[in-house]
Amino acid sequence: MKKLSRRTFLKGSLAGAAAVSLAKAGLPEVKSEAAGLNSKDPGEKPSFFTNPYNHKAEDAAKVFTTEVVIVGAGNAGCAAAASIADQGIQVIVVEAQNRIHGQGGGIGLVNTKFVQKLVDDGVLEGLTDVVQHQNIWIQRCGSRVKEELVSMWFNYAPATGEWLIDKCAEYGVVPLSFRAHAPKAIVPETYDYHRFRSTAGYEFDDHCGYFAATNVCYTDAKNAEKHEKPATFVFNTRAQDLLVEDGRVTGVFAERDGELLLFKATKGVILATGGMHEDEEMKAYYCDDYVNRVQRCEHTPVGFSTGDGHKMGLWAGGKMQEGGPFPLMLHPQANAMFHGCFPFVNLEGKRFMNEGTWVQGKSMNIMNQTDNIAFSIFDANYAKYNIETLESGAGGGMFWDTLSNALEDPLEESQFTRTVDSDMRAGNTVQADTLEELAEKIGCPAEALVATINRYNELVEKGFDDDFHKPAEFLKPIKEAPFYAAKVGVALLAIVGGLSVNTDLQVLGEDKMPVAGLYATGNCSGDLYAIDYPINCAGNSNGRAFIWGYRLGEIMAAAEGVEGELTSYEDLAPLTVEAEA
Ligand SMILES: Cc1cc2nc3c(=O)[nH]c(=O)nc-3n(C[C@H](O)[C@H](O)[C@H](O)COP(=O)(O)OP(=O)(O)OC[C@H]3O[C@@H](n4cnc5c(N)ncnc54)[C@H](O)[C@@H]3O)c2cc1C
Repeated sequence: MKKLSRRTFLKGSLAGAAAVSLAKAGLPEVKSEAAGLNSKDPGEKPSFFTNPYNHKAEDAAKVFTTEVVIVGAGNAGCAAAASIADQGIQVIVVEAQNRIHGQGGGIGLVNTKFVQKLVDDGVLEGLTDVVQHQNIWIQRCGSRVKEELVSMWFNYAPATGEWLIDKCAEYGVVPLSFRAHAPKAIVPETYDYHRFRSTAGYEFDDHCGYFAATNVCYTDAKNAEKHEKPATFVFNTRAQDLLVEDGRVTGVFAERDGELLLFKATKGVILATGGMHEDEEMKAYYCDDYVNRVQRCEHTPVGFSTGDGHKMGLWAGGKMQEGGPFPLMLHPQANAMFHGCFPFVNLEGKRFMNEGTWVQGKSMNIMNQTDNIAFSIFDANYAKYNIETLESGAGGGMFWDTLSNALEDPLEESQFTRTVDSDMRAGNTVQADTLEELAEKIGCPAEALVATINRYNELVEKGFDDDFHKPAEFLKPIKEAPFYAAKVGVALLAIVGGLSVNTDLQVLGEDKMPVAGLYATGNCSGDLYAIDYPINCAGNSNGRAFIWGYRLGEIMAAAEGVEGELTSYEDLAPLTVEAEA
């Protein structure tokens, strides 16, 4: 029988005593860690806590030794590889897919030199107020985040921007300015979303995708002309388990072409395996039920967001972040792409919220409605009205404003009518000459819809929304045919909870002490978000991937390593020959 340490015994007996006294007092029992958030069985730990591999060094067919191993070549892994290569440190990146995985629209980085130039040129009113936005972030996360990590995000964003913009420029990739901007919104949004685009026609290799900044990081990291120790990317190779020797993580076991390989790391192993939304058991354990109410998940391709890094971290003694259910990154874009700030109705034809808020708030409210769906109702003048809400600076945010114009360009109605036309072609937005006909098309009771819109028009006339307190500048009449109903459904982009880390991005154990040799970044890492994804700094999760990546260069340069003879580049070369998918 496994012996209980005094500490484990005390923990167990105290938890037991607490449960008994709470039950006596008629209060609900506090769930133990084993219970998870949604578990019905407080005693049983789910299977993902158990390592099915338990590989030993002697099981490996081949062993390669380097200074740093990164597991996963997404935005986070590629950014870390580029920064580590810049520090003259040898790194191997092990990736399960046959390519890198850049994903997203843009990268949130406040107060970079790109933003500063827009301010200097007089097209942006000023830099981001870091004090204001850090506090919004913390509030949105229910004060359950590690504030030092949020500070690190804001403090390192400008330097990361400088590093990334300069690196991208070498490959003809530049950030573009766009019009979407909501400085005076209910939840103000910063101007920080860096959309990098290739302008000089640099040909990235076949392992690259559409996300230009990540293509640059990958290409630059392995650039042998630039680096004394260029990075080695090993594709079609799936990490399974970590090697722990004398209490320190010293390597990663990975399967390639049916062979078990061991990648040893003298300085550290960085877990950058992304999210865990494809592991049903983990999802049930760490998320609340809203994760099951989305129309779909938009993270592609499937099969690689199974929380492998989260699990490997747990098996090596790491601990998951605390602070309630893991936050969901949600966008109400699963159906129509445009919905503005017009009244939302549910399938009962009733309004249910202040529609002038941010995308996370809209998404959560929609998922409280029948079939997790809402319809944004607007009339023939929607494009004009929408521009009015945006020009006040009070409106904006995704699916309300536009990313298509440069900041200095005026808003044009065609930007919105184009999107609505495309939503209509896709069958997600419908048009009708009367509200009754519109109700029939969306399947809600006509009487209820007409009553809701009549009431809304009354509030518009009065200039005050008694029902949901939507700001007056967003109250626009719905009177002139044709009438439109845009179906608004919620998409999951990512689950942004992960392994507990400190500001050196070391994975922490139950005792809050680092697991030696183990680091985490990107969506595999935790403690930066809780409860809700704070979208006041748009693109901040990609921001985290790049800021943490940039930091990892400095962290690895300062890290004390263990002894080990590095494998020569000649012996690493076979790893870069394509393995079977
Ligand atoms: C459609 C869409 C749009 C988005 N737009 C934005 C945006 O505009 N701004 C923003 O901030 N965020 C956005 N996001 C979210 C953002 O893309 C992610 O938060 C971010 O890409 C996470 O990066 P990552 O490197 O941590 O994870 P990932 O990109 O998931 O990368 C993880 C990598 O690890 C690999 N891997 C997994 N397991 C293993 C294993 N066992 N062995 C080896 N490799 C493994 C995977 O194959 C993958 O390549 C968007 C998400 C989606 C789906």
